[in-house]
Amino acid sequence: MEKAEPVTVELRKDFRFEAAHRLPKAPADHKCSRLHGHSFCVEVAVSGTVDPVTGWLVDFGEIKTALAPLQDQLDHRYLNDIPGLENPTSEYLARWIWKRLIPRLPNLSSITVAETCTSRCVYWGPEGKPRKTR
Ligand SMILES: [Zn+2]
Repeated sequence: MEKAEPVTVELRKDFRFEAAHRLPKAPADHKCSRLHGHSFCVEVAVSGTVDPVTGWLVDFGEIKTALAPLQDQLDHRYLNDIPGLENPTSEYLARWIWKRLIPRLPNLSSITVAETCTSRCVYWGPEGKPRKTR
């Protein structure tokens, strides 16, 4: 039998939550230093090679299951009260989510946090953005 060509993919799944925050390190006259809220949208990406037996990289249901406890922790909360999110910028929120997902989703490749329709932060993990190998 001919050996199947590896299929490399990235899967992306979104989850949303509503939360309040303020940015305590922003200048006092900056609008983000005041208490306000967002409808956050988080995109979780996993990447790797498709399993030739199942035909998938990861079951989307498995990603959803991994996200559920985080959504519970974040939805309708004041983010500054959550341990590790005392300065809840999109940047630190992305890292906070990454740390909690990586044990359950070892193929995790990025976390994108959008506070608004026009502002997003992408975090590629502690090693930074992966370089193209070819
Ligand atoms: Zn904000």
